Amino acid sequence: MNVVTRFKQSWEGTQARAAITRFCLGHTTVSAHLYHLCLSPDPFCPWYRTISETIKHFLLHCPRFHSHRTALHSWLSALAITTLDLQTLLAT
Ligand SMILES: [Zn+2]
Repeated sequence: MNVVTRFKQSWEGTQARAAITRFCLGHTTVSAHLYHLCLSPDPFCPWYRTISETIKHFLLHCPRFHSHRTALHSWLSALAITTLDLQTLLAT
C-alpha cells in the first residue's frame, strides 16, 4: 500500500476529505462565511483586520499559514502538481 492510499484510508484522510468538501461547498468557519450567516461581527481575517477572510485568502494568501502552504507546495510538487491555486487545491 503506498503513502497516498494509506492517507486516504486514515482518519486524517477522512478529516481532510471532509474539510475539502466543506471548502468546495463554501460551508466553512472562515469569517466571511460566518459574517454572511450573521455569526461573526465582521468578515475580516482575525490576523489581518483589513482583509476579508474568504476561502481563497485562507488557503492561498493568509500570511499566518505561509509555512503550511510551503510544506503543501513541496508535497504537491513531489506528486508533479506545481500549480497552487484554489481550483487545483480543491480538486487535488
Ligand atoms: Zn488572513
